[in-house]
Amino acid sequence: MLTRVHDTLYALQVPIPYPMRFVTVLIDTARPVTLVDAALDTPEAREAIEDALRELGLHWERVERVIVTHHHPDHYGLAGLVEERSGATVHMLDLDIARGERYWHMWEKWLPGHQKHLTDHGLPQDLLAELEAESRRSRARVHPASRLHPLKEHDRVRLAGHDFEVLWLPGHADGHLGLWQPELSLLIAGDAVLPRISPNVGLYAYSRPDPLGDYLGTLARIETLAPARTVVGHYGPVIDNAATRARELIAHHEERLDFCREELRREPRHAYDLSNAMFRRELSPSGRRFALAETLAHVEYLRARGELTREWSGGAWMYGTI
Ligand SMILES: [Zn+2]
Repeated sequence: MLTRVHDTLYALQVPIPYPMRFVTVLIDTARPVTLVDAALDTPEAREAIEDALRELGLHWERVERVIVTHHHPDHYGLAGLVEERSGATVHMLDLDIARGERYWHMWEKWLPGHQKHLTDHGLPQDLLAELEAESRRSRARVHPASRLHPLKEHDRVRLAGHDFEVLWLPGHADGHLGLWQPELSLLIAGDAVLPRISPNVGLYAYSRPDPLGDYLGTLARIETLAPARTVVGHYGPVIDNAATRARELIAHHEERLDFCREELRREPRHAYDLSNAMFRRELSPSGRRFALAETLAHVEYLRARGELTREWSGGAWMYGTI
């Protein structure tokens, strides 16, 4: 399932055991041979990438560079394996390197702060054990790189004979990067904009304080760029209406903000309680954690703009209107 994006740049749909089913991995066969994103470390993903490389007359050892759009497991999973097999350099936006290293290399230290953050916002203690087990499973499917090379916003990256500008597109991850080629009007967006689903924007223990504010800025930027074609992390690999999709996602978050205002006007509640009202369907423990983090991003957005207060009461933060 290789799609030619431009010249020597190909997009591959790699299977992942998540509801999205596939993640996009880009392969540029021009020197330096580059992967953009590295899927998850599962036998199925390894095989899919190996087959694609073979089809393009390449193999792991020929890969010279891996650029990771953000540190989440389904985009970073095989980066360390490629580095080991070929000596490829692995690149991430400077801001996401700290996130990635804390998460993938200091996981045991990272965990208590992460759990406290969730329970401080009302997550029931009895969900913690299941969440920890799920976290351990996803940790096991990531082969972290031994060294990460920082990219900075406005750096240039050569792909398929063109200079791409590194963009900082925060929201879904603090240090999420995009690659923009103005002459081709081509954006490599990772999960910064997705068709069909709204990328998770969550406030976590160690994230920037206002991820939804960051994300609305990112969507406005994508709307202004109005790329002719956009490579997306899931449900792609290429879409042609990213500006329209960005507008839809802005409207979706505005609706959710209104929902928070209305619910909290009725009575103060903690974010977990509110997340159960916002996401009514049955969810797995990790789904409930995503829902809580997403709800928190919305209430903290409103609190930062003076619309809500929060108060420590009964062992959790209670949000209310002013
Ligand atoms: Zn993803």
